[in-house]
Amino acid sequence: MEKLRNGYLFPEISMRREAHQKKYPDAKVISLGIGDTTEPIPSIITSAMSEYALGLSTPEGYQGYGPEQGQKSLRKAIAEKVYPNMGIRDTEVFISDGAQCDIARLQMLFGRDVTIAVQDPTFPGYVDSGVIMGQTGGADESSGGRYSRIEYMRCAPENAFFPDLATVPRTDVIFFCSPNNPTGHAASREQLRQLVDFARGNGSIVVFDSAYASYVSADGDKKPRSIYEVPGAREVAIEISSFSKFAGFTGVRLGWAVVPDELLYADGTRVARDFDRVVCTSFNGASSVAQVGGLACLATEEGRDAVRRVVGKYKDNTRVLVDTFRALGKEVYGGDDSPYVWVRFPGQRSWEVFAEILEKTHVITVPGSGFGPGGEGFIRVSAFNSRERVVEACARLTSFLA
Ligand SMILES: *Cc1c(COP(=O)(O)O)cnc(C)c1O
Repeated sequence: MEKLRNGYLFPEISMRREAHQKKYPDAKVISLGIGDTTEPIPSIITSAMSEYALGLSTPEGYQGYGPEQGQKSLRKAIAEKVYPNMGIRDTEVFISDGAQCDIARLQMLFGRDVTIAVQDPTFPGYVDSGVIMGQTGGADESSGGRYSRIEYMRCAPENAFFPDLATVPRTDVIFFCSPNNPTGHAASREQLRQLVDFARGNGSIVVFDSAYASYVSADGDKKPRSIYEVPGAREVAIEISSFSKFAGFTGVRLGWAVVPDELLYADGTRVARDFDRVVCTSFNGASSVAQVGGLACLATEEGRDAVRRVVGKYKDNTRVLVDTFRALGKEVYGGDDSPYVWVRFPGQRSWEVFAEILEKTHVITVPGSGFGPGGEGFIRVSAFNSRERVVEACARLTSFLA
């Protein structure tokens, strides 16, 4: 626990926000910072949850523990609607209380002796849960903001946000997030094919985080929304995903992990069997109310449309952000397939840029360096806010940066 260094990011940002508000009591601070959703959940989904919840007060409607792996109907809906034609069986889908929690349970499954690789920059949860597990080993081996036993795969504009795998050492596990938080970059089909082949050659497990799959644009050269669109992935990849950014369930809590039957350890036993054991031992299944909500997001065309419209709103916000930074002559990445915009400030430190923007515009962003050393010199700007506030924030940024 003492080796954890990433915990400071979001608490540090909220401390600075409070200090700023104290200094400027009348300032209307706009947060384009933390990746939390802001739009209301469509009522077709909440009414299904509320009807089920009220039923719990009746003898006919009451239900206790459900299956640890989740309701059959929801597992089936995910297999069919999220993974059409990808050969995912409902029994391979494990319903959870969110992707963050599945990361921790997977780390419990892998144990402390595995080696892991992560993108740099990336969502801090993979490294932090690994450090908590003890994957950093005995003595303090950290340097330059990195833990020396963890492999950091640099993902930058210079390499199309994809590592040169020929130079990446073998690890037991590779955490890969696409569309990526924070860069917003969605890996191409060819990039994911390379990743799967690399893992197959090395006998590594890929943990593919597709929390932002629903933000992948449908048009043009469609990027994969799932690792299982790539041939051979069933033998090497676990996919974790979530209703959080897809349906505004950040507070409701619902996610899933797919562990295919063909994913085997070197001795030929199934990884899914052990994951099932971890889930039954350390989790007792996701909230039944949340699962009813999840089913309402997927089961009907109306539900799917309602959720799609909310994601569309954030994607429109992203467009406004990208256009604003581009008009200011900034190097801007992400945005097309994610709710995040990744902006470069050459020659400046991320925290410096964060502080300057806050001081001059009262807008909260996230310093890129908080996602790994490779994020230095960038800031992440989130589209999770109302259109009105995003437009207002863009006007302030324009008058400051122009
Ligand atoms: C938000 C986020 C999660 C967490 O999802 P929950 O289901 O809310 O736990 C996981 N992965 C990434 C990359 C995220 O940005």
